[in-house]
Amino acid sequence: MKRNLRQLADRHYDVVIVGGGVYGAALAREATLGGLSTALVEKGDFCSATSASSLKIIHGGLRYLQQLDFSRLRNSVTERRAFLRTAPHLVHPLPCVMPTQGHLMKGREAMFCGLLMNEILSCDRNQLKDPEKFIPRGRLVSRATVGRLVPDLATDRFTGGCAWHDAYTYNSERLVTAMVRDAVDSGCTAANYARVTGFHQSGSRITAVCVHDELNNADFDIPAKLVINAAGPWVNEVLALLGRRPAAPVCGLALGLNVVLVRQLLPSSAAGLPFRRRAGESQRLLFLMPWRGQTLAGTYYRPHTGPADALAVTEADIEMLLSDLAHAYPAAAIKRGDVAAILAGLLPVQHDRLVNDEPVLANHFSIIDHARRDAIEGLISVVGVKYTTARDVAARTLSMALAKLGRRHRSSGSDRRPLPGGAIPDFKAFLEQAGTAPFGNVPPAIAEHLAYNFGTELRAVLDLGNSQPALLTPLAASTPVIGAEVAFAAREEMAMTLADIVFRRTDLGSAGRPAAAALDAASRIMAAECGWDETRRGDEVRKVGNMPLFGDRPPCPAPGLQRQNGG
Ligand SMILES: Cc1cc2nc3c(=O)[nH]c(=O)nc-3n(C[C@H](O)[C@H](O)[C@H](O)COP(=O)(O)OP(=O)(O)OC[C@H]3O[C@@H](n4cnc5c(N)ncnc54)[C@H](O)[C@@H]3O)c2cc1C
Repeated sequence: MKRNLRQLADRHYDVVIVGGGVYGAALAREATLGGLSTALVEKGDFCSATSASSLKIIHGGLRYLQQLDFSRLRNSVTERRAFLRTAPHLVHPLPCVMPTQGHLMKGREAMFCGLLMNEILSCDRNQLKDPEKFIPRGRLVSRATVGRLVPDLATDRFTGGCAWHDAYTYNSERLVTAMVRDAVDSGCTAANYARVTGFHQSGSRITAVCVHDELNNADFDIPAKLVINAAGPWVNEVLALLGRRPAAPVCGLALGLNVVLVRQLLPSSAAGLPFRRRAGESQRLLFLMPWRGQTLAGTYYRPHTGPADALAVTEADIEMLLSDLAHAYPAAAIKRGDVAAILAGLLPVQHDRLVNDEPVLANHFSIIDHARRDAIEGLISVVGVKYTTARDVAARTLSMALAKLGRRHRSSGSDRRPLPGGAIPDFKAFLEQAGTAPFGNVPPAIAEHLAYNFGTELRAVLDLGNSQPALLTPLAASTPVIGAEVAFAAREEMAMTLADIVFRRTDLGSAGRPAAAALDAASRIMAAECGWDETRRGDEVRKVGNMPLFGDRPPCPAPGLQRQNGG
């Protein structure tokens, strides 16, 4: 996958997609597989904004039973299964537990009924070939089991627990990269660091988008019959580039904050822990999950005002999340110094009012045909609310796009087609094999790490070591990431900066600050691959070191330094 801006400017595309988060990536894949000539442009790096901040859960929708939203549950079950099938290396079942209490909605009786309904509504969830990917039945468990799964939780206030399985993505950024690569392998032209700055119009019809190449400070146009605005929290700002602003699809934004804690609090299962901030207020839920031998915890929400680029996590936000943790899980005794990484993103809200002191998040996606709504031809906006359901929303958008372009409907098959690295019939056997002969030359722990991140493509990564065996050693003693991953990302995955390597193509920054030695080694490989001089290499290392994403740095950065800008 190469960054080829000339090709973008030279062709007349059926569709150009603005935004390379999970929605833009899913749309690019869907449109290309659906037979449309497709371009994808992203102002930062792919998956550098909201999609990188997720709690990594690929939801089965159990919680939607509370609102009796059966269709949303069904939709989530189907999409979870599609991810488990098409990216078996990157998406895995996740055991979860939640304590039960009283005899109302959080009581054992209600949970039993919920699990039963879930069992019926998700009866086709395991229509998968690989039993390793099966989602077992949920069940009620004893207080002692809750105590074992959530050590030192004061279980005397609970009646037991509800245990179920969901799924999670081992690497949300690599999953988006895989979608973009599948689109590109199928004919899409994609570019990161390519910002849409305006539109060309003929009468009421959009005819092209204006793009600024952020790396080379150049401008060009991409002519297209149709533009799909998948700019996530920037969706209104992209529409504002039209000059006359159509009705805004998003009425407001909320900041969502998750943190990685250096300590491993939970031995195996994720846990949803109920708590109250104050006596008398309704209960909230905090979710904790095992993450890279540490713990991922969230989510704290508050309203966000101003442009999406102004996202900034403050010390007060982190304190609020830690205080929630102290209420939900006092025995964990989490301190500020335990925060290793900060993951924050913006989500659309339903309305401007707060309920229980919190913004009310939108719970349904929107696909807006601006021809119908605003008399602007050739423009669709897409606003998603979950990483999990991006493929489905993309498939629905493709139907609209094909109808607008007067093309016959063609199914993309994206729910069955393996993503790059994902053609693995039996993940357990694949993992066992990974440590042995044909994958050769690296210790089993590294082969396993590569198997999770690259799936079958670990062979291609290891092949890079044939010519340069030094690439087969870890970048530093503290990480399993090897040099070949960096070289592969530069050659095959459009990594343009050191931050792309650290945060999105490898595991280096997925759970906190990488060792200086690892950064140095990665930057030297990037310098060799990309022709950087010493000044550029030093700048790249400094930029990553100064990122406000590591918990050990004071937050509240100047706007523009957050992940949103390709950080
Ligand atoms: C804290 C948090 C936790 C979450 N946890 C989960 C979870 O566990 N499971 C789940 O399913 N969902 C979760 N979500 C929701 C999920 O992350 C989002 O719904 C999803 O990532 C939105 O993706 P997107 O592609 O619309 O937006 P984004 O990922 O923000 O992508 C939009 C892209 O558009 C680009 N862009 C903007 N303007 C331009 C322009 N002018 N030109 C070119 N590109 C542009 C941006 O740079 C950005 O990369 C969570 C969200 C948050 C914030």
